[in-house]
Amino acid sequence: MKKIIIAMDGHSSCGKSTMAKALAKAIGYTYIDTGAMYRAVTLYAMRRGFIGENGIDEESLRREMPQIKITFGHENGMQYTILNGENVERQIRGMEVSGNVSPISAIGFVREAMVSLQREMGRQGAVIMDGRDIGTTVFPNAELKIFVTASDEIRAQRRFDELKAKGENPVFEDVLKNVRERDYIDSHRAVSPLRKADDAIVLDNSHMTIDEQNKWLMDQYLAKTSE
Ligand code: C5P
Repeated sequence: MKKIIIAMDGHSSCGKSTMAKALAKAIGYTYIDTGAMYRAVTLYAMRRGFIGENGIDEESLRREMPQIKITFGHENGMQYTILNGENVERQIRGMEVSGNVSPISAIGFVREAMVSLQREMGRQGAVIMDGRDIGTTVFPNAELKIFVTASDEIRAQRRFDELKAKGENPVFEDVLKNVRERDYIDSHRAVSPLRKADDAIVLDNSHMTIDEQNKWLMDQYLAKTSE
């Protein structure tokens, strides 16, 4: 069967990564979580004190970009994010990083560095990459493009449940506000804003179970590879 690139884009917390991981596992593809990469850059900038009351110290971040090394590790079938040799999977998922990630992701030189790394990671094909600009910018020629969305409240509820399950103590209203703010910044930034690629297939999974959405995605994949 031919090896393709699958681009999964969409709004924050709409379950893209859950679907993408399940398909990758089922068909033996590599899954690449590009949101984790932007989150890792954000964590780096926070730790270095580049994000303050008065905004982001872009010059310092630009200078240190070449020192930021992001890779992925695997353990017991789970993928985790590595920032300069440290497993930062837990830290990058917290509310603090979520609150800072969209402004960091809007910076042109940050995007340039991440997009080139992502193209390198996907060069061999047989990958499923999830993010905001995969079908429009990173792999505009991807054979299969999916754009996932769901209602704000449902997405916030899913994120809230996920944070709770990880032992955090989130406030629903804060999570909802964060989901909406990220969508707004991500869709209005100057450099490769979140937008559906013209040839992407839209999935609104507001009222779908995980099994239903996994089956839907598998069907799209099978239809594309048997063409
Ligand atoms: O996918 P996730 O919600 O973890 O992404 C976190 C943030 O990273 C997004 O809100 C967005 O600001 C940024 N992002 C991006 N481009 C991507 C993936 C994520 O700008 N390809």
